[in-house]
Amino acid sequence: MTKPRQAPSQTPSLRAAGMRQTPQREAILRVLQSADRPLTVDEIWSAMDQQRSGVPTVYRNLERFVQEGWVESLFGQDQVMRFVRCHSTHHHHHLSCEQCGRMVEVDICGIEPSLAGMEQSSGFRITRHELHVFGICPDCQAAE
Ligand SMILES: [Zn+2]
Ligand SMILES: [Zn+2]
Ligand SMILES: [Zn+2]
Repeated sequence: MTKPRQAPSQTPSLRAAGMRQTPQREAILRVLQSADRPLTVDEIWSAMDQQRSGVPTVYRNLERFVQEGWVESLFGQDQVMRFVRCHSTHHHHHLSCEQCGRMVEVDICGIEPSLAGMEQSSGFRITRHELHVFGICPDCQAAE
């Protein structure tokens, strides 16, 4: 069953991850938390209530959040990198609406059997995979 997870989870503890709890880091996470679609670094920066530091600092923090698994970076069809807040702490995928750009997170993978087949036919030991699924969201379908 595909179950979109939309309930916002708690803001991850910056301190628990060994990061200093700066207003800027909290602001970045807040912006991503309230967005229903992936945002570019510039969009995140402009949505922050205070811009004391520049876009490069925001970008560095985002890279750190990606390492922690709080945020994922994705390339759109325009090849621009965008960031999305991940709520799940384990392996998951994202679905993007091709019409409105809204994105939801699905807490299931579902392709493990195909990967096992791929391992058998290729001889590779598969260590990870990324999968970004595109479609038309229920709202856009209703408006069609
Ligand atoms: Zn994610
Ligand atoms: Zn849509
Ligand atoms: Zn998967």
